[in-house]
This record gives sequence, structure tokens and C-alpha cells, in this order.
Amino acid sequence: MKFASKISVVIPVYNNASALSELSLRLADTLGGNFTEYEVLFVNDGSRDDSLLLLKKLALSNDHLKVLNLSRNFGQHPAICAGFESATGDYVVLMDADLQDSPEDILKLYKKITTDHSDVAYTIKASDDKLLTSRISSGLYHFVFSKIIGSNVPLNIGTFRMFNKNFLNEIKRYKEFNILYGPLMFFMGFKSTFVTLNHQDRKHGKSTYTFSKRLKLAVNSLVSYTDIPHKLSVYFGALILFISFTYGAMVLCQYLFFGSQLPGGTTLIIFILSIMLGCFMLFLGIIGGYLFRVYQEVLARPRYHIQEKINL
Ligand code: UDP
Ligand code: MG
Repeated sequence: MKFASKISVVIPVYNNASALSELSLRLADTLGGNFTEYEVLFVNDGSRDDSLLLLKKLALSNDHLKVLNLSRNFGQHPAICAGFESATGDYVVLMDADLQDSPEDILKLYKKITTDHSDVAYTIKASDDKLLTSRISSGLYHFVFSKIIGSNVPLNIGTFRMFNKNFLNEIKRYKEFNILYGPLMFFMGFKSTFVTLNHQDRKHGKSTYTFSKRLKLAVNSLVSYTDIPHKLSVYFGALILFISFTYGAMVLCQYLFFGSQLPGGTTLIIFILSIMLGCFMLFLGIIGGYLFRVYQEVLARPRYHIQEKINL
């Protein structure tokens, strides 16, 4: 018995030639064997190896395999965006092309999302990243991001995930240029469920991400969701002003009540400078606050998402 749902699998491809044949074979087996309909959307993101050639060959032999070829390398998330815009399934799966996630696990995701009546099923990687540095940095990132959206984002969350058509339609309402789907999906809310899965060590090639590319992503996602940087400027400015004025008040008291001398020379210059610095920081922060508001308006994000409607 096959499940009566159409599954769309979106896979960004950047130099994954060594994995593509096995990947499409296993996908076709799993999806063809278990679902009445499916499509796999490979988005070739300007690969410099034979990925495109291979994809074309694979698509010839199985018309469920579809290929979108981007004109150059735009990055993982723009590639994912292209895939989402063409996906027509009842459920959409997002996965990487490097076989670190098992295509067979799509079945587990489907069972979980349907039995839990959820909108989105995330995967949690059972095995941790090996590198201590990447564990620390991703831990820190998750901590900050959880604070920002006010709910707990589990550590070790994977790219591999499944969501329903309604969730996809809501994702497509985000028209921002620097889109990042990982944080965005959490930010959107909806009924979520989690499946813990084994995440294979990389068999083919090496990560297309370098540390600096990852750092850029982290900064990008934090910047587009937080107003922390300019608030820091305000707090720092206020702190400097507070310290300066406290010092000023102390010196004045000593002068008025105890007859001490007023400071002059370097001390006076530093005092005046720190008051000025405090003012600068404070007002820069305030300007930053307005800029952030303009930025948020320019993003034109949807203000809300409706999860379900009743009698409407
Ligand atoms: N990817 C992409 N464009 C890029 C970089 C990566 O489409 O510029 C794709 C890549 O093909 C893979 C996914 O993004 O399907 C994740 O990349 P990778 O597996 O190298 O990242 P990691 O596993 O290290 O997170
Ligand atoms: Mg990977």
C-alpha cells in the first residue's frame, strides 16, 4: 500500500557529482515504492564538476527527477528558494545532496509529521559534530538565536526536514534577498515535531562550507533578526556617560564640601572626551535603532502566519 501524498524533494547541488547517482537511486526506490506520486527537484547551483551533466542523464531515465540549473553559484539558500518555488507536492522535503542524510528516512519523517498532525518535522542529528570548535560555535549560535525568537531551538538540528504545502506557501511569502531558511522556519512557528536520525559522516568530497562562509551565515542570520548591535551601542554609551557623570559629581562634591582642587590638564580633557564619547555612542545607537526599523520595513516580512482557519 502506498501513501496517497505527493512528495517533493528539494536538493541544492553544488559539486556533489560523486553522490548524485546513488542519491537519486535511493530516492527513487524510497519514494516510488511508498508514495503514489513524487518529484525530486535538483537545483544545480553553478557546480564546477560534472554534477549538471550527471543530473541531465539521470533526468532522462526517470521523469520524476527534475533539474533546475542556476546561471551561476548563488549559494545554498537561493538555490533552495528556486526549488521551493517549483515544488508542487503535498509535502516538501529539504535535504542536502551529499548523502549525509539517508533518503530512506523520508519515510520516518512522513510518518512522524502525519501521526503528530504537524506542519513541519525537523531532524535532530544523533551524532554530534566531531570538531570542538564547530560544536562551540554552533552551540553559541543556537543559544543566541533561541533567545531572539523566544523559544528553544534544539541543538544539532539538521537541514533535512519535511513540511506541508501550507507551510511552503507561507515560506514563499518571504521575499527578502538574504534569505536563510534554517532560522526562518523556526521564526515562523507552526506545529513542529522532531525526529532524531543518524547523520552519516561525509563519504563524498568535503564540505562546501568553510569556517568563514559559516561565520558569514551566522552573522547574516543574527543581523536580520536582532536589534542587539545598536542596543549595545546605546547601553555602552549610557554606561560611559554614567561613569563620567558619577566621577564629575564626586569631584564637584569634593570641591564644594571639602575644598579640594578641581582637576585640570589631562584629567579634564579625558573627562570631557569621555562625555563626548558617551554621547556619540548613545546617539549612534539611536540612529541604529531607526535604521533597523527601516530595514525591517524594507524586508516586508509577513506580519503573521495563520496555522488553521475554522468556520471561515
Ligand atoms: N550548496 C549549494 N551552494 C553552495 C554551497 C552548498 O547549493 O554554494 C549545497 C550543497 O550542494 C549541499 C548543501 O548545500 O547539498 C549543503 O552543503 P554541504 O553538504 O557542503 O554543507 P555541510 O554538510 O558541511 O553543512
Ligand atoms: Mg552536508
